[in-house]
Amino acid sequence: MIDGRMAGMNQTWRYALAWLNDRLKRALPGYCAFCHAAVRGGVPWCPDCYADMPWNRHACMRCAEPLPRLDVGDTPNLCGRCLRRESVLSETWAPLRYEERLVRLIQRFKFSADPRAGEILLQLMTASLSEAPTLGEAIVGVPGQRERTRERGFDHTAWLATRLADRLRLSLVPAVRLRETPSQRGLDRLGRRRNVKHAFAVTRPLPAAVVVVDDVMTTGATLESLATACRAAGAERVTALAFARTPSNRI
Ligand SMILES: [Zn+2]
Ligand SMILES: [Zn+2]
Repeated sequence: MIDGRMAGMNQTWRYALAWLNDRLKRALPGYCAFCHAAVRGGVPWCPDCYADMPWNRHACMRCAEPLPRLDVGDTPNLCGRCLRRESVLSETWAPLRYEERLVRLIQRFKFSADPRAGEILLQLMTASLSEAPTLGEAIVGVPGQRERTRERGFDHTAWLATRLADRLRLSLVPAVRLRETPSQRGLDRLGRRRNVKHAFAVTRPLPAAVVVVDDVMTTGATLESLATACRAAGAERVTALAFARTPSNRI
C-alpha cells in the first residue's frame, strides 16, 4: 500500500519535473521554442521549424487572405472579395496563417500572458517585414477591452503596438474605444462588422500614412473599423499589420 503510494508520488514528481523542464526550455534562450532543439544565432527557432511555419506568402495584398497561387503580370494580387468591393485598408501585411503551431503560440501570448511567446511572435513578424511594402509614419493599435484586459492581466494589443512602434521607429498614436464590444467569436462576417462598427475613434490628427495593428486578422472587421477611424482623423493610406491571418475557410 505504502509502496504503491510512493510509486504514485514518484510518478507525480516525474511529471512535475518533466513539465518544469519543458517550461524552462521554452523560457530560456538557446532552445528552439517549437521543438526544443538547441539553437544558435540569437533567434528562438531552429531552421527547420522556421521553414515549417505556416507562412502566408501567396496572399491578397489588400486583406491578406491566402491565395491558391501568386498571380503574375501587371494585375495586383487581390482575392475575389477585394476585387468586388472597396476597402478602407490600402493593404494588409500578415506574414503567417493562423494555423497549427502558430495557434498555440498566439494563445500562449494572449491568454497566458507569456512574454516569450509575444517576443517570438514579434521576431517572426519583424523578420518577415523586410519583404513588406512601405509602412506608414505612425502606428495605431486596437484599443483593448477593459473587462478582457482585467481577466487576462495585460492588454496584449497595447503590448504589441508599443513594441512594434519602438522596433519600426514609428510614432505610437493611441486610439479610443468608444464602447465595449461583445466577443467576435462565433459571429459571421456581417455580424463581426456590425459588432465593431463605430467602436473606435482617433482624437489626434494623423499623418497621411498609418499602420493599424492587431494580433490576428480574422475577417478584418476590427482593423477595418479602426482604419475608418484613422481616415476620419486624416490618414489617407492605412496599412493593416497582424501576426497572422485566419484563412476564410476556417472562420
Ligand atoms: Zn525547432
Ligand atoms: Zn482580399
